[in-house]
Amino acid sequence: MSQADMNAMPGALPGLMMDRPLLVAPLLTYAAQFHSDTEIITRSVEGPIHRTTYAEMSRRTQRLAHALIALGVKPGDRVATLAWNTWRHMELYFAVSGIGAICHTINPRLSNEQMRYIIDHAEDRLLFFDLTFADAVADTCKGRKSLLARVVLSDAAHRPARAELSDVLTYEELIAAHDEDYAWPEFDENTAASLCYTSGTTGNPKGVLYSHRSLVLHSFACCMAATMSLNVDDRVLPIVPMFHVNAWGLPYSCPMSGATLIMPGRGLDGPSLFELMDSEFVTCSQGVPTVWMSLLATMREKGRKPKALKRILIGGAAASEMLIEAYEAEFGIQVNHAWGMTEMSPLGVVNNLKPKFLKKTRAEQMPQKLKQGRVVYGVDMRIVDIEGTILAHDGRTPGHLQVRGPWIAKSYFKSDSAALTTDGWFDTGDIATIDADGYMHITDRAKDVIKSGGEWISSVDLENAALDHPQIAHAAVIGIRHPKWLERPYLICVARGAQKPSLQEVNAYLETKVPKWWLPDGIAFVDAIPLGPTGKIQKTKLREQFKDVIAGK
Ligand code: AMP
Repeated sequence: MSQADMNAMPGALPGLMMDRPLLVAPLLTYAAQFHSDTEIITRSVEGPIHRTTYAEMSRRTQRLAHALIALGVKPGDRVATLAWNTWRHMELYFAVSGIGAICHTINPRLSNEQMRYIIDHAEDRLLFFDLTFADAVADTCKGRKSLLARVVLSDAAHRPARAELSDVLTYEELIAAHDEDYAWPEFDENTAASLCYTSGTTGNPKGVLYSHRSLVLHSFACCMAATMSLNVDDRVLPIVPMFHVNAWGLPYSCPMSGATLIMPGRGLDGPSLFELMDSEFVTCSQGVPTVWMSLLATMREKGRKPKALKRILIGGAAASEMLIEAYEAEFGIQVNHAWGMTEMSPLGVVNNLKPKFLKKTRAEQMPQKLKQGRVVYGVDMRIVDIEGTILAHDGRTPGHLQVRGPWIAKSYFKSDSAALTTDGWFDTGDIATIDADGYMHITDRAKDVIKSGGEWISSVDLENAALDHPQIAHAAVIGIRHPKWLERPYLICVARGAQKPSLQEVNAYLETKVPKWWLPDGIAFVDAIPLGPTGKIQKTKLREQFKDVIAGK
């Protein structure tokens, strides 16, 4: 049934409720009105801790809205940011979308070449950047025809000295010149509000264009008890950057829930995070496994957790048993595993245990906790085989994971290629099982799964099992060619200390955790596992590095 058929259902009566648009700016207006003195605290890029409130942020955002219009920004224009998690970046989120333009967050960890491609593709009109990225801006902006102006996110005292940046404006001077009385316009909730490009491990990055409606609905979902359970008593520190899927929606869902926000700026190492969490009484925080590994090292050094930290959300890559166990059992911090993607705004599933699992012992609960979680209301999820046949939710049968829902992309920005299946689902590129209780478990990326004979071996499960080995600090598993089985697993590790365990020693350990036929055929030690701009293992690089290794030789 098409959307038009559904709208025109014969005999159906229209509901008699107000048709108010779901827009982004009212999230901040709400927080300014009803949580006016709730703080947004930032470790500023310039150094000192900066404190503001939702009320003050709302006033500055209105000044910024005037400033953007004065600079020539029109509805539908893209305004780029190259910035850390700070209060100024958040003001940009609301002002840009609030005037009907599109806030385009650029990931500064991309190569300068990729940034150039993105700025040209998005046809960005303005670029706001943090001091840290002055060199990248000087290089990437050369010859970018669409750009009207560049603005450094600081004050007159911090104007970059480089000659190529002599024309940049400073954010504080820019907004000081305008009034704080901007009346946010009302428009169609399906209008585009923000733009984020995928990390582009294969080919060029693709633009995901979020609408006001999708961002607001996603924020409701983030506040639910079954997901991030955000509330007024939370002091939230998003470690996930605002250039990675809108910091998983937190700059929108925190004002919606009235939560206090603590922004880490560029201090994303373990000691800086610990210090900020401890001094600002952070209760919950969200990030990828690598940052949780560095915070764990700091907590172990200090022999304690940041004093108010109650729960963390781990997403973006699989959480290992070691990580979950260390946070929960060693430090008493609740871990919620979660999965999503740029195309999903990003929330898809969050793991919290149904009561029947809570009655079990910690060891019995672990297999359930290692799953990515239960689907969030609003997202439909199915697994299918290569022919598209829908597979059973038996927790054993892996299939291609497909999703649909009001905060999931239906196509990419300025792209003609179809992003959906013929029956309207988005194929995530992940391989997963779903169990009878509705818990989804990612077993691999479709392109990373190791096809040994006719069977699939999960590289993610093998990596997680290897990470539990006491002498392994980091692990990645790729498929290498095999004359009989076509592909076999190959383990690439970073050793925890000077001692490098042999393949036999590692396999003797892995045998207790995974089926015997999954055991790696070879092992290599490297100084570091290459990570992409959003903290994921770059398997394409490893496959290239180890392309000449053949199993069974
Ligand atoms: P991105 O769009 O950069 O956020 O990447 C999305 C992809 O990251 C997903 O399709 C998964 O392959 C991977 N991913 C995200 N969260 C998890 C998780 N908890 N466990 C395993 N893989 C994950």
